[in-house]
Amino acid sequence: MQLDIRTLIFNLLLFALVFAIGIFLLQRSQPRLHALRWWSAAIVAAGAGFLLLALRDSIPDFLSIIVANDLLLVALCFFHEGVARFRRQAGAYARWLFPLLLVVLTLLLLYCTYSAPSVAARILAVTLINAIPAILAARLLVREIPRSLRSSHYFTAAGFAQFAAVSVVRAIHTLIYPPAELMAAGPVQAMTFLSIFFLLVVTSFGCVWMVSAYLAEELEQLARTDPLTGAMNRLALDETLARELARARRGKQPLSLLMFDLDRFKTLNDRLGHQAGDAALKRVTAVTLQQLRATDQLARYGGEEFVVILPDADKAHAIDTAQRLRKRVEALNIDRGDGMILTASYGVSTFPEDGEDQDTLVGRADATMYAAKQAGRNCVMADTGPA
Ligand code: GH3
Ligand code: MG
Ligand code: MG
Repeated sequence: MQLDIRTLIFNLLLFALVFAIGIFLLQRSQPRLHALRWWSAAIVAAGAGFLLLALRDSIPDFLSIIVANDLLLVALCFFHEGVARFRRQAGAYARWLFPLLLVVLTLLLLYCTYSAPSVAARILAVTLINAIPAILAARLLVREIPRSLRSSHYFTAAGFAQFAAVSVVRAIHTLIYPPAELMAAGPVQAMTFLSIFFLLVVTSFGCVWMVSAYLAEELEQLARTDPLTGAMNRLALDETLARELARARRGKQPLSLLMFDLDRFKTLNDRLGHQAGDAALKRVTAVTLQQLRATDQLARYGGEEFVVILPDADKAHAIDTAQRLRKRVEALNIDRGDGMILTASYGVSTFPEDGEDQDTLVGRADATMYAAKQAGRNCVMADTGPA
């Protein structure tokens, strides 16, 4: 089968046009995702480059060789920039490397077109230089990707990786069998155009997929987070506690729950206002998170009531932790508006001795917290008595 390169380019142009418009419109609905603007610009640059490439012999060589290939390189660099912005880890090299590549490519193409014309040398320059941003983009797309985003990122990376691989193969092939004419070239050149076609299709679709996976992840995160404090909400607490309990059961490890409630919080709200109340809730959350281990989890259970999951913590350890948290909240020195400072009361329950299932453990923590309130507040109670 003989693939006609001009037909390929025509298809690619149509495709690029549709995707560039689509991604541009998507950007308008997601203005904070700047990456989309770069991707849409990349597709436009790629499309323009291919159009000029397809017009070889009908337009001046300067346009169909130098400008065309420069535009293709610019497209790859824009793609890379979009990926870097999307991943929020702009490559430090991008600022100097990409302009440098563009200058080098332009000079090489000028030289191999006008001073010492050679199709082979031009192909070598283009393929080897283009492979660089493609490899860098692929690398950015596979490093430290959260599990939920992996498929979309790896898919897009595959688009860049295949392009880089084909570019290198083409460079080697060109070294061994230098072609005389570009458009009439054999299967390797056809494979190159096919590879570019794939690059555009895969990365365009991949970008849209990455964005939708990212937005889905963000929504999922929002649905599990308390907006005021950033702690887990009830939904996330239920799921996390179920998971941690199952793990504790399997590993025959203890697990403790702390429940705490701010003391006379209504007074603070009434005297100093709701905003002061909100600020106090945030500060208590922050200081509590500071004190917890990476594996511990904090959830806002209700208004000014929180639950802490302490995996692998027995009752003594949990009581220690609760005392530390209690002192930290007190040390915040938050004015309650009645001449007192804001404090909290803590209840403790531990798996397996206080209960085997979620509801029993939470109920037990609630009961011990209530006991702490009864005992005068600003204290920790476990079911064994005052701690
Ligand atoms: P106790 O020591 O017995 O817990 O007394 P309390 O005043 O803290 O208890 P109560 O349950 O009567 O009051 C809780 C208050 O918490 C009532 C409500 O106005 C306040 N609250 C609940 N959620 C929020 C919130 O998101 N922001 C603010 N500012 N206040 C809240
Ligand atoms: Mg309270
Ligand atoms: Mg309460």
